[in-house]
Amino acid sequence: MKPGGAAQRRETRRIMVGGVAVGGGAPVSVQTMTKTDTRNVRATLAQIREIELEGCDIVRVAVPDADAAAALRAIRAGTKMALVADIHFDHRLALQALDAGVDGLRINPGNIGSTSRVREIVKAASGRRVPIRIGVNSGSLEKDIAARYGGPVPEALVQSALRHVRILEDAGYREIKISVKASDVRATIAAYRMLADMVEYPLHLGVTEAGTLLAGSVRSAAALGALLSDGIGDTIRISLTAPPPLEVRAGLELLRAFGLRKPGASVISCPTCGRTEVDVAGLAERVERELEKHYRENPEAPRPVVAVMGCQVNGPGEARHADIAVAGGRGKFALYVRGRMRRVVPENAALEAIVEQVRMWRA
Ligand code: SF4
Repeated sequence: MKPGGAAQRRETRRIMVGGVAVGGGAPVSVQTMTKTDTRNVRATLAQIREIELEGCDIVRVAVPDADAAAALRAIRAGTKMALVADIHFDHRLALQALDAGVDGLRINPGNIGSTSRVREIVKAASGRRVPIRIGVNSGSLEKDIAARYGGPVPEALVQSALRHVRILEDAGYREIKISVKASDVRATIAAYRMLADMVEYPLHLGVTEAGTLLAGSVRSAAALGALLSDGIGDTIRISLTAPPPLEVRAGLELLRAFGLRKPGASVISCPTCGRTEVDVAGLAERVERELEKHYRENPEAPRPVVAVMGCQVNGPGEARHADIAVAGGRGKFALYVRGRMRRVVPENAALEAIVEQVRMWRA
């Protein structure tokens, strides 16, 4: 372990997903997937914009059919984000996606039929060195491998991934990243650990079908946390049955927990109780979002600790360690800076007052 808790990262080959470096010592990137109908360009671009504001590095869109592939050109024109097309089985969709200018493909070369189709994709991808992610998960395992291992056990996931890798290597292509996602946390950890010892390609970490917001975040944090603490993982996605911006926030928080990203907005808030007469949760949430935005735009800005407390009885005491604090009253907040009460603001002006103090903050 290096000081600060960040593990020595596993050395991997670097690939580029558009402007985002993955592997080879690059920062671990955060990905998510849009949940709109890809054919609906306007809705998809609106969601990509939301994801981008949240701090996401790479976005993936599902390309289930030719209409979705046809929409990629307009989506590409509407965003500068690193854009990956997620394709199953149909190599023509992959060719269309490459032609539309996507920055990455997720496709399993073993599932598209013939070697000549793989070569066609490789030829189209190689000009811009567009990387291909081999994405194995427990649901997509080949029948013969599943039969040999008796199901989607870690060895089976790894063998499937290696088979796909060989197909690309035989076609002369090495712009590869790999994922081996199981829905079981321990199987996911075991599969990635095994694979990390066998290949030099960067790894995309995730747990498949992770679940709802809370359960999925916990499972993903458990699996990805174990791997990140081993130094494994070049890019991550927290899959949740929840809106994509929440996947991004969870991913960023996880990386911060391992010292792999700068700390975000440092907002603490009280759990609230019978004394609370203001919307503490709502204000804390809004403060966090505003400050995250501020720090994204001003990465070097100082990051004072902000406390949002429900009452003036215990609030100021509980917020002792904060640089800036507000403590609620009935429909209002008292504003404290470095422990001293400065003024009282109405509840609806508290966000602005806090953000103003943060912007003026000098360490
Ligand atoms: Fe309750 Fe006040 Fe403590 Fe919040 S700060 S939990 S409102 S006593």
